[in-house]
Amino acid sequence: MQIYWTKINKIIEETPEVKTYMLDCPEGFTWEEGSHTHFALAGFNAGEKPNRSLIRHMSISTLPHENSIGITTRIREKCSEFKTILRNLEVGSEVAIFKTHSNVPLKRENKNVYLLSSGVGLATFRPIVLDYFESADNVNQIHSLNIDSSKNYLFADIFETSADKKFTSQFVDNRKDYYEQVKNLAADKDGLFYIVGSDEFLVQNMEILREMGIKSEQLMLDKRKDMLDDFLTSVYEKEMLENTK
Ligand SMILES: Cc1cc2nc3c(=O)[nH]c(=O)nc-3n(C[C@H](O)[C@H](O)[C@H](O)COP(=O)(O)OP(=O)(O)OC[C@H]3O[C@@H](n4cnc5c(N)ncnc54)[C@H](O)[C@@H]3O)c2cc1C
Repeated sequence: MQIYWTKINKIIEETPEVKTYMLDCPEGFTWEEGSHTHFALAGFNAGEKPNRSLIRHMSISTLPHENSIGITTRIREKCSEFKTILRNLEVGSEVAIFKTHSNVPLKRENKNVYLLSSGVGLATFRPIVLDYFESADNVNQIHSLNIDSSKNYLFADIFETSADKKFTSQFVDNRKDYYEQVKNLAADKDGLFYIVGSDEFLVQNMEILREMGIKSEQLMLDKRKDMLDDFLTSVYEKEMLENTK
């Protein structure tokens, strides 16, 4: 496993609680849209075993041509040791990234794509949307729906509805509106549904989509294949059991 040590070159205050850490691209490091990485702080590998409290999974919120690796995260006042350290890092501080992979690349299958996210989950979708803006080949249209109770909506310059680009962006600040809209979107029985958020959020979305007749093959979740199968089965086996009654 190759560990890439790199430096923070810019810190963007996206909202009062959300920051994007821009990292220099180490030589030979590349990624595709929808990627996540292991983001680690100095000292994580100083002992015999890696110190997990200094490592977090993070999506990469930029594309390679932006020439920086973007890591977007929410840092609340009460936060973990990891975020307490991160909050105090400055431009020039060293961090590490390793094991980078995309489970959710943009599928170009001539379908409508729905991006469902909660809060900073939108960071995973930013490069997917940019990739689509660069080339809409074999994608019918994209619709993003994000719920953020803080009402400080992220990446508003990119997540802006545009009829020309066949792109719709919706932000809501409460669950009632959010799930009502998910049901509306699920009227498209042939769409592809990407979901990013906490496990609880994924399950709630999947249950609604399943009830609306969306098949597990139409879902894209940021999970490894083995974990994905367990996850899908946990929601969709109910359907299988119901069908065998
Ligand atoms: C594939 C994948 C991609 C991901 N991508 C991203 C990403 O792009 N951006 C991102 O931010 N996260 C991402 N995550 C989640 C990320 O890995 C972390 O789990 C998440 O950011 C929470 O970080 P944290 O554990 O440091 O806790 P925090 O964010 O600090 O805290 C989590 C919650 O616990 C509470 N809490 C924590 N410590 C305390 C305390 N001492 N006292 C009281 N309350 C406390 C906080 O208020 C908060 O509500 C991703 C996860 C996966 C699996």
